[in-house]
Amino acid sequence: MTKRLYIETVGCQMNVLDSEMVVASLRKLGYELTMDQEQADTLLFNTCSVREHAEEKTYSQLGQLKRLKKQHPEKVVGVMGCMAQKDQQSIFARAPYVDLVVGPGQLQQIPELIQRVEDGERNQLAVGLGRKDGSLAEIKRSHETFDPLRDPSMRPTPFQAYLRIQIGCDKFCTYCVVPSTRGPEQGRPPQQIYDEARILAEQGCKEITLLGQTVNSYKFVDGDTTTRLADLLHGLHKIDGLERLKFVTNYPKDMTYDLLQAVRDLPKVSPYLHVPLQSGSDRVLERMKRGYTVADYRAMMARIRETVPGYAVSSDFIVGFCGETEDDFQQTVDLVKECRFKNSFIFKYSERPGTKGAERLKDDVPLEVKQRRNNELLAIQSAISEEDNQAFLGRTVDVLVEGPSKRAIKKSNQDDPVLQLTGRTHCDRIVVFEGNRRQAGEILPVTIYDATAHTLFGSVVTQAFTLQIAARKPEL
Ligand code: SAM
Ligand code: SF4
Repeated sequence: MTKRLYIETVGCQMNVLDSEMVVASLRKLGYELTMDQEQADTLLFNTCSVREHAEEKTYSQLGQLKRLKKQHPEKVVGVMGCMAQKDQQSIFARAPYVDLVVGPGQLQQIPELIQRVEDGERNQLAVGLGRKDGSLAEIKRSHETFDPLRDPSMRPTPFQAYLRIQIGCDKFCTYCVVPSTRGPEQGRPPQQIYDEARILAEQGCKEITLLGQTVNSYKFVDGDTTTRLADLLHGLHKIDGLERLKFVTNYPKDMTYDLLQAVRDLPKVSPYLHVPLQSGSDRVLERMKRGYTVADYRAMMARIRETVPGYAVSSDFIVGFCGETEDDFQQTVDLVKECRFKNSFIFKYSERPGTKGAERLKDDVPLEVKQRRNNELLAIQSAISEEDNQAFLGRTVDVLVEGPSKRAIKKSNQDDPVLQLTGRTHCDRIVVFEGNRRQAGEILPVTIYDATAHTLFGSVVTQAFTLQIAARKPEL
């Protein structure tokens, strides 16, 4: 009998991938997806703990299920992901309508746990071991994921997929919950990664984004052989059908010269590097225990500049971290101006229970100051992004077409094949242009005629210009 699953995913790309796995395992049992909570037999919330705001939103959504669960006690409600691992048993106390709480390393147990709830055993809890709750091998095993099972219909588009190469994190930045919610850092065996990439390519996937919390720290040791990210890129590059390879998120200290050479020498690898800086002040970086200085980051930027033509670097920042002064913040502003990131994700510091930051440092920057710094940095970054995007006017870029743009989806006329499409350059810049919906999945040359901070606007180069294109130097 067909059952219906409602699944809601927030947070990072890891969560998007995790949801793909869970949907695949439930489809095998006859589940179909629904967007309607009332229709669903099972409702799952894949959650994020990185900032308090994300958790509060999930708790409020769970609260709204009270009425539904009262009317239909047979519906199964589950919380999975980082918040499940972090809050564990206390989720049942705070949201009594929840039937199961499942950590990121236990997602393969979801079908069995749902069955137990249906058999009358409520409050099912399955989570990974804490950092001190066993031997390293046991802890690692309890955070492993079950990636080979996948469900193509859950991907952002049919020709783009995430591929996890690393689980967990051992960096322990003082503000961050990830090392406890995702467990110890472990690289997946290269053979598993190649096999999964081949399956994805056979399914028509053209772009793979390799995922890891510090993806460029990837390491797998087998006897005398150590495999690093650069080796993986060389191996993946040989897979027919794949046209683009990206990897996120990078750790500044591990952006080695050989990795940058691989980015330069392998045409399928995007010269796009997401390398969070977090702060431009050494004092703050030290308090964050990021393990590098501003000078280290500058040296990394110089290595990228010298090695990778047409590179684009993006970054993350936390403003208002414990003890951040106006002078510290000004140093961040100066570094953003100097580095000219393609874009930056800027967050207000959110104290997270269980982290060293929460235990040892005072969250002493008032919210309005955090907000002002956030706005100021965002405005500076936007001005830089807009200026740098203007340099694309008149240039032709290769765009992997993702599908209809948000605007086109809103005023969708299913019968009209010509509509506004969106896609990305090799450097991850968003491009919007008119095209045919059949062109989704193709890589097309697009000439840019307008640019804002976030978007390039262009026209597809038509047949008449083909000879000109053949003569042009490839643009990034
Ligand atoms: N592993 C990645 C790294 O090392 O950069 C990112 C992990 S985290 C999920 C994504 C971003 O969230 C971080 O780069 C940081 O800027 C931000 N973040 C993490 N913890 C935070 C906190 N407690 N408050 C505000 N922002 C936070
Ligand atoms: Fe969190 Fe730092 Fe690990 Fe990134 S490197 S996941 S910010 S602890």
